[in-house]
Amino acid sequence: MSETVNTFEAQQQGRPTGPLVHGYEVIIGFETHAQLSTQSKIFSRASTAFGAEPNTQACAVDLALPGTLPVMNKGAVERAIQFGLAINSHIAPRSIFARKNYFYPDLPKGYQISQFEIPVVQGGAVEFFLGDEKKTVRLVRAHLEEDAGKSLHEDFIGQSGIDLNRAGTPLLEIVTEPDMRSSAEAVAYAKELHKIVTWIGICDGNMQEGSFRCDANVSVRKPGQPLGTRREIKNLNSFKFMQQAIDYEVRWQIEQIEDGNEIQQATVLFNPDTGETRAMRTKEDAADYRYFPDPDLPPLCISEQWIQTVRAQMAELPRNMAARFQADYGLSEYDATQLTQNKATAVYFTAALGEGANPKLLSNWIMGELSRKLNAADMTPAFSPVGPIPLANLVKRIEDGTISNNAAKQVFEALWNVEGHDVDQIIEAKGLKQMNDTGALEAIVNEVIAANAKNVAEFKAGNEKALNGLVGQIMKASKGKANPQQVNDLLRSKLAN
Ligand code: ADP
Ligand code: MG
Repeated sequence: MSETVNTFEAQQQGRPTGPLVHGYEVIIGFETHAQLSTQSKIFSRASTAFGAEPNTQACAVDLALPGTLPVMNKGAVERAIQFGLAINSHIAPRSIFARKNYFYPDLPKGYQISQFEIPVVQGGAVEFFLGDEKKTVRLVRAHLEEDAGKSLHEDFIGQSGIDLNRAGTPLLEIVTEPDMRSSAEAVAYAKELHKIVTWIGICDGNMQEGSFRCDANVSVRKPGQPLGTRREIKNLNSFKFMQQAIDYEVRWQIEQIEDGNEIQQATVLFNPDTGETRAMRTKEDAADYRYFPDPDLPPLCISEQWIQTVRAQMAELPRNMAARFQADYGLSEYDATQLTQNKATAVYFTAALGEGANPKLLSNWIMGELSRKLNAADMTPAFSPVGPIPLANLVKRIEDGTISNNAAKQVFEALWNVEGHDVDQIIEAKGLKQMNDTGALEAIVNEVIAANAKNVAEFKAGNEKALNGLVGQIMKASKGKANPQQVNDLLRSKLAN
């Protein structure tokens, strides 16, 4: 174990120091269990469907009854390969299943089949933005394993029951280096990982049902010191709890250290009702699990050809799509990343582009006005009341000068409230067209110049601000329909003479 800690320590050298909390640096590493979206279990044909009556979906293989043998589910392996390809990992040509031995009521067979020494996915990295700062979290590994059953505590009769439906459900456990430096970064990492597994479709990502659950390993240290002792917060199944749990844990550890206590390595649970973490057991070391290769399963062999076949069937990855958006449409890396933050947004953007709207302007509207509205209504772009085609039409009308940006907001509002679907009709009905008649505009400009000799004189004397007053009056006289840029140009050229 001390060897593991040293390895992590060595790998932390040269990493930037994170923001300090009361003089301490926060170190976080994640272990995430992603339930793979196969129909049947990892080593048996029993169903993985959620919500069935207890113990109706656990078969003899899942319980390891005598005489049964596990058989590897090809779909689970393919999903692991897809994940490895998505994050640029090495896919092991030969990996080994091991038995992890422990006794717990929800694991009556006494061991969990997992991978220990040689996992199927090795290395790789997850990249994401924290605000506008780019972060990279390196992965140690991702390995295939089976899930255990579930204890059901029936408080009203004072008894506990065991539901073994979940036993044998395929999991991919994804382990990071301790590369994260704040709860905010940890949440951003978890969101990015969630995006990747749902985008490539290997996991449904349903956090309430436990399809995507994170264990956060947290320690603190004074900058420059070796890594501190970590405590592992188990089974965080919402991004909000994740942030709260880590923040609480960090405060708690700092308090302990400041009081002169040593942190003991432990596994802790977060209680959302109290907002506190509490130790559930002192942490086992790998040796306690008496790992050994599972004699019932041959090594998992993955040929280069199989990897290529899987690669060929995968849809475009978010980071590749983002790179394409940058190259083809001249978007910034930040914009491109935002547009590929989930599939629905990327699909929306692509559909709107098909209408021939300006990509940058479109991106601004999607990430600005549309996102604001969708977030407030807790909706995804797939169900947006303003579809990609009307939004594209709206953007085109800004581009060709028919409406001002302000007027566009009113049109958007009308589309959102389903007052109409046709952008041109809305512009017409609300009288939002910008003034294109230069003659009429010139007349207004002349009038305003004549009536505001004082402002004009000030501007000519070098007071730039005096121009704003004039522009404002012209905009008012045109009932907001003049194009502010055009007004500006016209005014300047007239006043220059
Ligand atoms: P296990 O928890 O199964 O014993 P490891 O020792 O491999 O496994 O570490 C698990 C996780 O703990 C990894 O995500 C790793 O990044 C993280 N970790 C290791 N040391 C620390 C530390 N000092 N502080 C925070 N996280 C750590
Ligand atoms: Mg662990």
